[in-house]
Amino acid sequence: MTSPEAASDRRSSQRTTDVDVLVVGAGITGIYQLHRARKAGFSAQLLEAGAGVGGTWFWNRYPGARFDSESYTYGYLFSKELFEEWEWQEHFAGQPEIERYLNHVVDRFDLRRHMRFGARVSSAVVDEASGTWTVTLDDGSEIRTRFLIAATGVLSVPYQPDVPGRDDFRGEAHHTGSWPSTPVDFTGKRVAVVGTSSSGVQVVPTILDDAASITVYQRTANWCTPLNNAPITAEEQAQLRADFEHLCEILNTSISGFAHPVNERAAFDDSPTERQAFYEKMWNSPGFMKLTSNYADLLFNEAANAEWCAFIAEKIRGIVRDPATADRLIPNDHRFGQKRPPFVRGYFEAFNDPKVALVDLRETPIVQLTETGIETADGVREHDIIVWATGFDFGTGALARMGIRGRNGLELTEHWADGPTTFLGLQTRGFPNLFFPGGPHAAAGNNPRYNSDQVDFVTDVLVHATERGYDIIEVTAESEERWTRMVDRGAAKTTFGTIGQYVGSNIPGKPKRYLLNTGGRPKLFEVIADVVATDYQAFELSRSSAPAAARA
Ligand code: NAP
Repeated sequence: MTSPEAASDRRSSQRTTDVDVLVVGAGITGIYQLHRARKAGFSAQLLEAGAGVGGTWFWNRYPGARFDSESYTYGYLFSKELFEEWEWQEHFAGQPEIERYLNHVVDRFDLRRHMRFGARVSSAVVDEASGTWTVTLDDGSEIRTRFLIAATGVLSVPYQPDVPGRDDFRGEAHHTGSWPSTPVDFTGKRVAVVGTSSSGVQVVPTILDDAASITVYQRTANWCTPLNNAPITAEEQAQLRADFEHLCEILNTSISGFAHPVNERAAFDDSPTERQAFYEKMWNSPGFMKLTSNYADLLFNEAANAEWCAFIAEKIRGIVRDPATADRLIPNDHRFGQKRPPFVRGYFEAFNDPKVALVDLRETPIVQLTETGIETADGVREHDIIVWATGFDFGTGALARMGIRGRNGLELTEHWADGPTTFLGLQTRGFPNLFFPGGPHAAAGNNPRYNSDQVDFVTDVLVHATERGYDIIEVTAESEERWTRMVDRGAAKTTFGTIGQYVGSNIPGKPKRYLLNTGGRPKLFEVIADVVATDYQAFELSRSSAPAAARA
């Protein structure tokens, strides 16, 4: 039997490309895609703009950054040995442990030698006749590839608001999404945290002990609930190992990609007393269970949602001693789930510390930055460090910055000027041999779970095509239209994530289109099964003029 390496070498030498598969991005998706492509016998390389492995988990090394999915449901499941040998320390691991894990995976599966770091793509252009891509890097070097797989992630382009005088500030300023690799010293510093969503609320309690003062600039309050993290005990570690197959079965079929039990009951099936007891149980449950195991009609029944929100509001009032501050921390303009809920540890409690102040930007908006601080409508506050926790250009941001050009020189940004159109959130017509697993229209719950589904599928498509001597793969117009219509129809009905990054409304000028997979994982599974059953007719497969080797 031919080894994958030998097969790859032979295949590459018969072609005019440098590699069969070029992956962009060394995050969770890209690492797995590189591994799958290599295992399938393709020659493959990976480009990463950062200096190390991790993608989102490399750049988001701000204080307090951690999973809010259970660690063992976020990690890879493709190798039982890997699962058994890596013991996560906490149910919700912090960024340093996550980065260590991803480095371990890369070395464990000998992937590092196929990776190139500090390699930022500045353009990617298809040659229509051959279907190959020429990828140019910032340093001017070029790589030609048969298949280009952009595993560039949904949260990889930080959004920095265009505040007047931003560059005038003379202190330190960092965005959570591009945090420096050298530690930032908060000791004795007057810190501003701008943004109070998932990232900002993790930063505040983490730097509390060190900072001299923290001023939290809040535009919109969020429905934050406790993460309820804990160390994983030795008994739990043993149980996790014993349950590996069962856990895989649950995670590989679960709607949300979490291992949380689904609640079939509607809120008003229960009595008021039962509901309060249930909400208490939810409040004390880990992470996303408050969404995935809550009442089945939480997102569909306004009265049910309002009652859960009232419960959280009371909890906030019970924690925050100053009633005026508590009131400002309670959302009054959206329901639970309309924005992606953040999970916290000690966030509300931090406001009981006299060195923490809350500035409500709805009452006193930011006017400008000065050399020494932030000026709002009620005056200037002096700061040594500003933490911008102001979010990301979600879903399309990274793809839009790669200079991607498809057939007829069409730029991807032009093609998607009104928002993305995709098939399965992984390919778009006019851009043959380009795939973007984990891209716009893909997200459906716990990221690594649907991302791996997509990576597995992309790899299967590449194998299917090349085994039959095809080397150009392009989704049909009909398949793309059907998936995009499904997303849009679902978007018209859902209340989940209808404010903020998931519809692009956090970025000035971005088209307002739903960027998640509204059919969820079940729809992804259904369509993938249909593609396979119908002999991959969702794609137009063709042969270029260049010789294509049959797979070994
Ligand atoms: P985000 O959810 O987009 O929140 C951005 C925050 O910045 C919001 O509070 C927003 O206020 C504020 N903001 C934006 N522009 C502003 C301006 N010009 N002036 C003042 N405030 C402004 O970003 P994020 O917190 O970084 O979270 C992004 C995503 O990353 C999350 O949804 C999640 O998927 C992921 N994440 C995950 C974890 C985890 O635990 N695993 C942790 C962090 C992040 P408005 O709401 O008023 O726009």
